[in-house]
Amino acid sequence: MATVAENVQPVTLSNQEVLRYSRHLIMPEVGMEGQLKLKAAKVLCIGAGGLGSPLAMYLAAAGVGTLGIVDFDVVDFTNLQRQIIHSTEDVGRKKLDSAAESIQGINPFVEVRKFETRLTSDNALSIFRDFDVVVDGTDNFPTRYLVNDACVLSGKPNVYGSIFRFEGQASVLATKDGPCYRCWYPEPPPPGLVPSCAEGGVLGILPGLVGVIQATETVKLILGKGEPLIGRVLLVDALGMKFRELKLRKNPDCPVCGTHPTITRLIDYQEYLIPLGDLPKRVHELDSSREIVAHCRSGVRSAKAVEFLRQAGFHKVQNLVGGVLAWSDRVDPKMPKY
Ligand SMILES: [Zn+2]
Repeated sequence: MATVAENVQPVTLSNQEVLRYSRHLIMPEVGMEGQLKLKAAKVLCIGAGGLGSPLAMYLAAAGVGTLGIVDFDVVDFTNLQRQIIHSTEDVGRKKLDSAAESIQGINPFVEVRKFETRLTSDNALSIFRDFDVVVDGTDNFPTRYLVNDACVLSGKPNVYGSIFRFEGQASVLATKDGPCYRCWYPEPPPPGLVPSCAEGGVLGILPGLVGVIQATETVKLILGKGEPLIGRVLLVDALGMKFRELKLRKNPDCPVCGTHPTITRLIDYQEYLIPLGDLPKRVHELDSSREIVAHCRSGVRSAKAVEFLRQAGFHKVQNLVGGVLAWSDRVDPKMPKY
């Protein structure tokens, strides 16, 4: 595969860097050539949270020259159980500032670029433009789909990871010939259907396990060495301590990376929809320029919501036909029914 190594700039290592990276330099798979590739590489981490912490720390320690971080959150006490890039005294500070300080403490040779913003369909492509690899450390579906689509549209590999309770997943998506997240799950689940870590909890160590796998894959992509997790999803079960693998094929009918894509620009998914009875008086809260998916248990009430919204001038409204019950039966059996 084409790797980010193609973008290598002519750089050298200082004596201090040679000392710092000596355990890499003696490895034939890295050596001076590989270390210079790492130094020239620009990696964008989406989120400075559970996955972003180990990712950014290890990539910094490994000598990745430029680390971008996208985050708009503030450190709170509930983060400290797993987000090890932040310390107790950082509570109340911007995660970006706290993360940047930790990274510089680990390796002052790293250039940190801070993006204090929520990733949106308006800014994703321009933020991604200057980076070679994007590493997804997000914890919600709207951003995960946005990262995937922006990676496909801009031709950047998406090093994916996700975590929940004792279970995690990792893969390398959206490479030139490899599958993307939508090849696997073409559309996001209905909002609120899949519990988040805030609702379901997560073992504090789990993002460490998965984030380190993502960091490893990122370094391999930069070096152009080994077998990346392309076309494979690694499933981590920390409770059973089992690692399994799923094959993931590129789907020719994929809505974003298939042969006839229907998604050719970025979409922001709304994370909520208002109860049907409240819709007439709250319709002004919705943005008619954005894609809206209405859902309910069986698809009947949401069909009424769609009808109402279309009459109100919303054109990008869709109904989840069959509702949550059908989604659970046909798409993801693990999805709780209600
Ligand atoms: Zn795809």
